[in-house]
Amino acid sequence: MTGFSHLTTAIMAILQGAMIPPSRPENATGEYISETGFYQSITLNSEEPIIKTRSKYQDISVVESDYYGKILVLDGVVQLTERDANSYNEMMAHPAMFSHKAPKRVLVIGGGDGYVLSEVLKHDSVTHVDHVDLDGGVIEVCREHFDWGEAWKDPRVTLHLKDGAEFLNNAPDNFYDVIIQDSSDPFTWGEDGEKVVLPSNVLYTYEHFENINRALSRDGIFSFQAETFNIASDLTGIVAWRAQALSVGFNSVRYGSITISSYPTGQIGFLLCEKNPESAPSTDEVHERFKIMQEVTGSETSYYQPKLQESTFDLPLWVEKRIYNTEDRPISETRDLL
Ligand code: SAM
Repeated sequence: MTGFSHLTTAIMAILQGAMIPPSRPENATGEYISETGFYQSITLNSEEPIIKTRSKYQDISVVESDYYGKILVLDGVVQLTERDANSYNEMMAHPAMFSHKAPKRVLVIGGGDGYVLSEVLKHDSVTHVDHVDLDGGVIEVCREHFDWGEAWKDPRVTLHLKDGAEFLNNAPDNFYDVIIQDSSDPFTWGEDGEKVVLPSNVLYTYEHFENINRALSRDGIFSFQAETFNIASDLTGIVAWRAQALSVGFNSVRYGSITISSYPTGQIGFLLCEKNPESAPSTDEVHERFKIMQEVTGSETSYYQPKLQESTFDLPLWVEKRIYNTEDRPISETRDLL
């Protein structure tokens, strides 16, 4: 395309109110967020993926970068990189596990890479974990290509290859102490800016949240992947999911923030939902259990530490006001873009 036709396209796009997707750099994996014009990509070692396959549900590939190591990509969206998967996965697992006095029965929904599962298994109170993922293809690929791919060998784990929402429909009442939902995003954006609904969409419905609440024991904890606060529509989603979790019966629902450089905007979060927040272990108990986890079972963490058990919920002021609806004047006065 000539410079002139680029200009013409740009003017046309501005007139039509559309953003022009950037062209993807060669030899890179990345995601374009048309809402913000944000495009993040990671340069790869080679044009050739380590593996690229298509399951019944999604495109699965593992690619490699010098800095980030191996990267799992589903439907074009980066799911994890060897360099920084510790932050997201440790924070999906430990704040939830340490919010319950003695978690025994745990359900992990999604997380086909096995990392959250391997973190849950570091807690020696755990006697049984049901792991439900839609796609055996992801598990097969991750078993072969990532270090934590041994988690499924633990005798406490039962793997179920099915839809997480369907599994919950048939789950018994008051059974699990902790449910962790490590799903992919409910939707993504196509290269030309259109919204693409992904298989995990069903995991964010009211009925599914109701089922989760029902399947949890009296002091049960539910933690789920809840997107970034840096994209306005995602923040709207966080507010809506929080309201939905409260309306199905959780008594406390808080957003925890995680730093992760390989995800768009470098930040993601989870919503921690508690049925009975008064039953949460004290700070001293969390420190004691964390010490036991390290010393007795020899299980280290590299991102999570007990201080984060509370401080992960400390948010920038404008985010806190938006999520907890403590705004006493229109949000537009403080944050034009929202
Ligand atoms: N850390 C990741 C992120 O947010 O980018 C998520 C990782 S994990 C690989 C996402 C998993 O959710 C995948 O293994 C996918 O197969 C699974 N998944 C998607 N929809 C699902 C559904 N309806 N039921 C169960 N698992 C589902």
